[in-house]
Amino acid sequence: MERTNSNRLHDEASNHLVGGVNSPVRAFKSVHGTPIYFQKASGAIVTDVDGNDLVDFIQSWGPLIHGHSHPQIIGAITEKMQNGTSFGAPHTGELELAKKVKGRFPFMDKVRFVNSGTEAVMSTVRLARGFTGRDLIVKFDGCYHGHVDSLMVKAGSGLATFGIASSPGIPKDTISTTLVATLDDEELIEFLFSEHGHEIAAVVIEPLPANNGLLIQRTEFLNTLRRLCTDHGALLIFDEVISGFRFPEGGYGGHVQIEPDITALGKVIGGGLPVGAYGARSEIMDKLSPLGPVYQAGTLSGNPIAMAAGMETLEMLTDRSYHDLDSLGAILESAANVVLEKYNYPMRFVRIGSLFWFSPGDATPPSRADQIPSDAGVMFANVHQGLLERGYMLAPSAYEIGFLSTAHKEEHVLGMVSALDDVLKNLM
Ligand SMILES: *Cc1c(COP(=O)(O)O)cnc(C)c1O
Repeated sequence: MERTNSNRLHDEASNHLVGGVNSPVRAFKSVHGTPIYFQKASGAIVTDVDGNDLVDFIQSWGPLIHGHSHPQIIGAITEKMQNGTSFGAPHTGELELAKKVKGRFPFMDKVRFVNSGTEAVMSTVRLARGFTGRDLIVKFDGCYHGHVDSLMVKAGSGLATFGIASSPGIPKDTISTTLVATLDDEELIEFLFSEHGHEIAAVVIEPLPANNGLLIQRTEFLNTLRRLCTDHGALLIFDEVISGFRFPEGGYGGHVQIEPDITALGKVIGGGLPVGAYGARSEIMDKLSPLGPVYQAGTLSGNPIAMAAGMETLEMLTDRSYHDLDSLGAILESAANVVLEKYNYPMRFVRIGSLFWFSPGDATPPSRADQIPSDAGVMFANVHQGLLERGYMLAPSAYEIGFLSTAHKEEHVLGMVSALDDVLKNLM
């Protein structure tokens, strides 16, 4: 595939934008490539500036559960913006979306909208500290919660790719109140609570960790977190920025019937526009300004256009959509397994609903970050490159997952698997 225009633009952009990008995983660094410039996208397909069409399994890293430029979402945005792009004042769009979110997350009495997943999680941590009057936060090795200072310790996503356990620019004091636990490990978390139980404000976890591979947790483990938090007066925060609205029950918490105290949302909730949200029971939410002392604000929060995109996205997510997404996922899964077995290639296919991951290595798919082989990146780079050459786009990192949307059809997933067959044949 010709990429002359993309390469030229990347060279030019590198003089003006850091690394030519506005978010590090877009840089293709870990797969030794250069970023692809897009000119347009529709459904499952993106078209790059050299005129190549690619089947997209990134879908803007999760938000686009209905694919690119869905006509109904575009229609809702277009109609809404005729009335103004931002009010800085209440409007019915916020109210409607809040009700819609509560419909899928019934434990929430109240919702607060923000502009990104990072902002949502950051605010839940402040709220939990304000509510409990405690400082300590527990997070897990391999969970990514956006670039929140206090949670950028052993995070995933771009940080897993670049092997940065933490980041310069974060004062020691900021992370001195963060305890890092290991996923899928009851003993360690029991120990942390026995030592610090009365000082822990909250346990923050992606109940379906999906930024460092797809590290599916045992429900018993999540139940242990629930019990420990309740017993010690700490709050359980589910970061469902990536998993929220990927399940018919709402989030992964609903899917496994575990109720957190606070849930953070993002990605799908904005339908491709910048939206984050968090919600909890009134007792907790009423601690927020203007009712309570915990401050959190936003000039563009609850933006009318963004609310309209989110509303249309959630309205279209019927039980039927989830059923279809899961069926398509099952088709991809069985076809991918046949090909991986045929070549005995050291990769395992992991899937839950519309989220999937090629887990590097021969072993049973991992449930903890430290079980991912250290040469994962090398194993993945060739597969990524080969698929891209054949018109199928996965995220440019071994640690990022793939996303199916309601716009993907059987031909797209089976096409990817037959491309994979060809790639592996050439690699073996
Ligand atoms: C993407 C993500 C975030 C950060 O959201 P942004 O909108 O990128 O700030 C936080 N937590 C999880 C689990 C995510 O997947």
